[in-house]
Amino acid sequence: MVHFVGAGPGATDLITVRGRDLLSEADVIIYAGSLVNPEHLKLAKEGCEIHDSASMTLEEVIGVMKKAEAEGKTTVRLHTGDPSIYGAIREQMDLLAAEKIAFQVTPGVSSFCGAAAALKAEYTLPDVSQTVIITRMAGRTPVPEKEEISLLASHQATMAIFLSTGLLEPLSERLIAGGYTAETPAAIVYKATWPDEQVFYTTVGGLQRTAAENHITKTALILVGNFLGDVYQRSKLYDPAFTHEFREAVIK
Ligand code: SAH
Repeated sequence: MVHFVGAGPGATDLITVRGRDLLSEADVIIYAGSLVNPEHLKLAKEGCEIHDSASMTLEEVIGVMKKAEAEGKTTVRLHTGDPSIYGAIREQMDLLAAEKIAFQVTPGVSSFCGAAAALKAEYTLPDVSQTVIITRMAGRTPVPEKEEISLLASHQATMAIFLSTGLLEPLSERLIAGGYTAETPAAIVYKATWPDEQVFYTTVGGLQRTAAENHITKTALILVGNFLGDVYQRSKLYDPAFTHEFREAVIK
């Protein structure tokens, strides 16, 4: 059996209980060394075979899984955050399915949730934004044309932008082309939930300068939108004048 496990955003106690159990029982661990906190590997049992996938190809990763499977071993494929977000797990799952190797997925706390915690922010404020757009700038990995940043920015929804720390000037330009102003609040969260986490509040126009001044070049998320501002409506759910399925209004 192969288990794809989300390691969470960084802090070792932000992996799920299930993920932790699977790690401690695994015979083989293949972890994404560029981003997964190596502290997680301390959970590995004695004799566990450990591979860092940073220098491996897809075929090599699958090769390790196939060998483990043939020996009746359990493999944990440890991905950063949640494996469904930029985790490149689909291609692994399809190759495993073709080999008739059983697999399961254990979710993790994505870094965009870790970043919200670091910011002490709520992405979905009534009348500010009820939508979170998870996206990235096109780099060496292309992004479908219909998802070009300015088109997404035209919604003025909350945006969590991954994998784009090296492209902040064109990012600002595309965000502004889409309708955000240069003054729209933005934040850069570096290594959310890691011991060396850093949070920078800035604006859409100030992203590049803020990153440069603080030497942030990778492992950061860019958060954009008025959820970072001070104006919002209180929720209906907890409004004393609002009646719903579980509660009568206490103020008429
Ligand atoms: N599956 C992961 C994302 C992997 S893509 C998840 O759910 O979070 C890698 C990108 O994620 C990085 O370039 C960075 O933009 C972001 N990232 C991952 N961990 C991060 C963290 N702890 N803090 C800030 N950004 C992070």
